[in-house]
Amino acid sequence: MIPANFDYIAAKSLDEALSLLAKHKDDAKILAGGHSLLPAMKLRLSQPKVLIDIGRIKDLSYIREAGGQIQIGATTTHFQIETSDLLRHACPLLPETATHLGDMQVRNKGTIGGSLAHSDPAADWPAAVIAVGAEIVAAGPRGERTIKIDDFFTELFTTALKPGEVLKEIRFAAPKGRVGQSYVKFRHPASGFAVVGIAVNLGLDGSGKCQSAGVGVTGVAPKAYRASGVENALKGKTLDAKTLAAAAAHAADGVDLNSDLFATGEYRKHLAEVYTRRALEQAVARAGK
Ligand SMILES: Cc1cc2nc3c(=O)[nH]c(=O)nc-3n(C[C@H](O)[C@H](O)[C@H](O)COP(=O)(O)OP(=O)(O)OC[C@H]3O[C@@H](n4cnc5c(N)ncnc54)[C@H](O)[C@@H]3O)c2cc1C
Repeated sequence: MIPANFDYIAAKSLDEALSLLAKHKDDAKILAGGHSLLPAMKLRLSQPKVLIDIGRIKDLSYIREAGGQIQIGATTTHFQIETSDLLRHACPLLPETATHLGDMQVRNKGTIGGSLAHSDPAADWPAAVIAVGAEIVAAGPRGERTIKIDDFFTELFTTALKPGEVLKEIRFAAPKGRVGQSYVKFRHPASGFAVVGIAVNLGLDGSGKCQSAGVGVTGVAPKAYRASGVENALKGKTLDAKTLAAAAAHAADGVDLNSDLFATGEYRKHLAEVYTRRALEQAVARAGK
């Protein structure tokens, strides 16, 4: 399958990419790793006249910690996250999530910014960034703005990014103290995407009570979401098996359930509850004593 004809421009800087977007408007699309956009173009689901490649802008690829904050540049690849020593120590949830994404080729080229901007309802990153309570930095013609992750995924394949904006950075407070994290996924046997993916980020106090809870869910609904019912059922509690099971039962509260030939809505809800319980148990075990 061959895409429709298009022009290709490799932007040398974010400013140049923004000017090109302003010039070509709806005719243009940003290209990062190309692992979602190019398949869509080959199927003619997307037919941009101009591709603006940001994948070669070195300044947009980084993982760093500054002032208690972890900052990840938009074109950082899944593989860079998977193999980051900084993240393995500071926030192991992200390297763990990366291992679940596609195969080595996909992880070598695909970017976290591209995945979040694409907002595929079965993508892995959205669950993880919700669990850590990230903010998205968007750069546009009038400068930068930050978008809370809970406001970022708006609909199926749709985000709060406005026309002319580029996702520049993902950032969040570095987890501190006694932390337990986990990402578990029920993979679609054909595509490898998440039928259900659950990311958990727990903070515990010295006595083992839950101080903070972040639970992100993907695959279950038209967009990734925060499982607030689960989080609320954990906060302030001692995290024994009964509490975790009771909390996990809220994994799909109040959401429109995805349904397809492989998994009905009811089955997804069941999987969400079972996988949330698993992720919680794993996170508590990893938090140690
Ligand atoms: C075989 C295969 C298996 C896969 N398996 C999985 C999987 O198991 N789990 C999973 O989560 N994903 C999976 N993916 C998708 C993969 O993770 C993609 O890399 C990712 O979804 C998109 O990132 P990208 O950098 O390739 O973005 P691109 O394809 O370049 O872009 C995707 C979309 O986002 C826009 N965009 C990209 N970057 C930005 C930016 N910085 N600002 C604004 N807009 C932007 C583009 O215009 C386009 O609309 C798979 C892909 C393939 C081909």
